[in-house]
Amino acid sequence: MQRGELNCPLQYVKGVGPGLAKPLEKLGLHTLGDVLWHIPRRWEDRRTFVSIRNIRAAEPVTLRGRIRAVSSTRPKGKLTITKAILDDGVSSLSLVFFNQPYVEKALVAASSQNEDVIVYGVVKTDNLFALEMNSPEWEVAGQDSLSMNRIVPIYPLTEGVRQRTLRRLVMQALEVGSDEVAQVIPDEIRHRYRLLPAAEAFRSLHFPEDWEHRDHARRTLAFQEFLIIQTLAHFRRQRHTTGRQGIRMPVDLKRLTDELHEIVPFELTGAQRRAIQEIAADIGSGHAMNRLVQGDVGSGKTIVAVAAILMAVQNGCQAALMAPTEVLAQQHAFALQQLLEPIGIPIALATGSMTARARQAARNDLASGQARVGVGTHALIQEDTQFAKLGMVIIDEQHRFGVLQRQALGLKGDSPHILVMTATPIPRTVTLTMYGDLDSTIIDELPPGRRPVITHWRTNELRDRVYDGMRQMLDQGRQAYVVCSLIEESEALQAKSAMEMYAHMQNVVFPEYRVGLMHGQLKPDEKKAVMAQFKAHELDILVSTTVIEVGVDVPNASVMLIEDADRFGLAQLHQLRGRVGRGKHASYCILMATPKSAEGRARMEIMTHTSDGFKIADEDLRLRGPGEFFGTRQSGAMELKVGDLAADVELIEQCKEAAAAIAEQDPDLHLPQHQALRHLVQTGPQNIELAKVG
Ligand code: ADP
Ligand code: MG
Repeated sequence: MQRGELNCPLQYVKGVGPGLAKPLEKLGLHTLGDVLWHIPRRWEDRRTFVSIRNIRAAEPVTLRGRIRAVSSTRPKGKLTITKAILDDGVSSLSLVFFNQPYVEKALVAASSQNEDVIVYGVVKTDNLFALEMNSPEWEVAGQDSLSMNRIVPIYPLTEGVRQRTLRRLVMQALEVGSDEVAQVIPDEIRHRYRLLPAAEAFRSLHFPEDWEHRDHARRTLAFQEFLIIQTLAHFRRQRHTTGRQGIRMPVDLKRLTDELHEIVPFELTGAQRRAIQEIAADIGSGHAMNRLVQGDVGSGKTIVAVAAILMAVQNGCQAALMAPTEVLAQQHAFALQQLLEPIGIPIALATGSMTARARQAARNDLASGQARVGVGTHALIQEDTQFAKLGMVIIDEQHRFGVLQRQALGLKGDSPHILVMTATPIPRTVTLTMYGDLDSTIIDELPPGRRPVITHWRTNELRDRVYDGMRQMLDQGRQAYVVCSLIEESEALQAKSAMEMYAHMQNVVFPEYRVGLMHGQLKPDEKKAVMAQFKAHELDILVSTTVIEVGVDVPNASVMLIEDADRFGLAQLHQLRGRVGRGKHASYCILMATPKSAEGRARMEIMTHTSDGFKIADEDLRLRGPGEFFGTRQSGAMELKVGDLAADVELIEQCKEAAAAIAEQDPDLHLPQHQALRHLVQTGPQNIELAKVG
């Protein structure tokens, strides 16, 4: 909640004006209040500087000195190299800039005016007689007290905005904010968890007196962010469990189990049985179910979905099953047809790429109620498909969906039960925040007889050996996947690389075997045909892009070879690996990779050492950070400025407690000390059906 001057558009703030307001807008800064939330990306300790002479190791340092001898060269093509000497009065080193032609002018100016500059970067220490720093950040030292003799914030910038400008603006905002900034964390909670008052937290975050103050401030503001999310989740959850009426669906578990027994050829695992019981209890209660089922790849979630579908159908309702990709939707439709049509339950597949006619037919069947189960992709939501009586919605592989779609879906039919299934184990912090409103079941048991996938990390030199191993497996009648290296630039390039790999595999490496090709640019019919061939063992090797990442199930496939595995995220590798080890045969996952970074090597090591999806998810979040982890798919779903999903487990749990305590004391958030919180819960970036709070 912003009042008064903090609400002032930046254009009208003293010293800004339209010229500066524009680039500030690019940084997402519209009002003075926004500036408070422009979090430094790091801080520099400019109370003391490192002496160039004392530099020993290649770690980031802040230096202060004068610039000499600026020069630029153009060794080849478009490359421009600018060099300068930084002299701190005792010793000196070279600064090297690549392709920053404008830097030269600025350096020359600093040098001719004999101004001190501050330089930040990593010194290359491989040649102790010629220290060098590549592409350092730097600024003219200047005299202003905000940039010198203290711990100085370094902000994310954009063209036309300088560090010093932002520091000045932030200070202005802090001065205004000291009276105005909203106290979102109620005092009682603030004392209990030893947090700072809001204004003080902002001040110490931007201009900390020392590192402890900075950390305390960070903790306070992260707490505030998580508290908003947890409060929101608390109310949504409460409404779901006590408020949202659902269709009461009594379930005869005995009968259901018998029926499942008829149609699937195996005994359910204990975990599957438990999940089914929980679902039955939910939907029998009269409240709408909102349940998240997490189970590692291969844990047998499909059967749980089948059980939920049966429950709905036996209660005279329809069910919808949504998958993130066409391939997966088709595969689900196929599997459900095999299982359910023999017992008189018709399935309709509706995807975005079907012919208009086929899609219309499917939609008619769903609208008339003739089809009892609808399977599809997003198209199922987007195209406003009507159901005669939709009672159960199952979303498979939730990590591909944003929260918003989940919400959109819930609006169809009258309060259908919602079951979200995910194979990507979700780090605990994320479950606590993004899925705080869902009940959760974890399927922590694999079907019996499953042997863990043996994972090897190999570099290119051993490629021949890897192919030999593959050939042995193929000779024994097994099948193999080969996943091409990840090319993020475009799907077309990705397809091209897959085609090349395919040609190489078929013509050069494995001419005696039948090789197939799968990539995102194939037409849906072609994809379907290739998958069917592979499943029927009319192909021995499937060269593919990551389109096979989720859900694909071919038990006879026992080798997964992943090219340039270090380019993939851990969760993605885990998903890919989960495509094998689904049958009774020993299975192998080969990671071909020559990682350049320590992080890349760490990821390969983790993959070879653990097959625990939850551990992998936590590591993934830790190594890559939430931005990368969620990628663009989840953008907007989780916008944390200070809070850190990878590190703040404890804080998130405290916030969950705090949110519950607040709700208990003041269920409608009507008390004056809760007004700021209430306001943010209603308008924050995570505002999802909030109107009913209070
Ligand atoms: P996921 O959880 O990855 O969706 P699936 O539902 O695709 O897993 O199941 C993986 C494989 O395990 C399938 O081939 C399925 O038929 C088999 N399966 C599932 N449950 C059992 C069980 N209880 N016993 C034996 N095999 C099972
Ligand atoms: Mg699945």
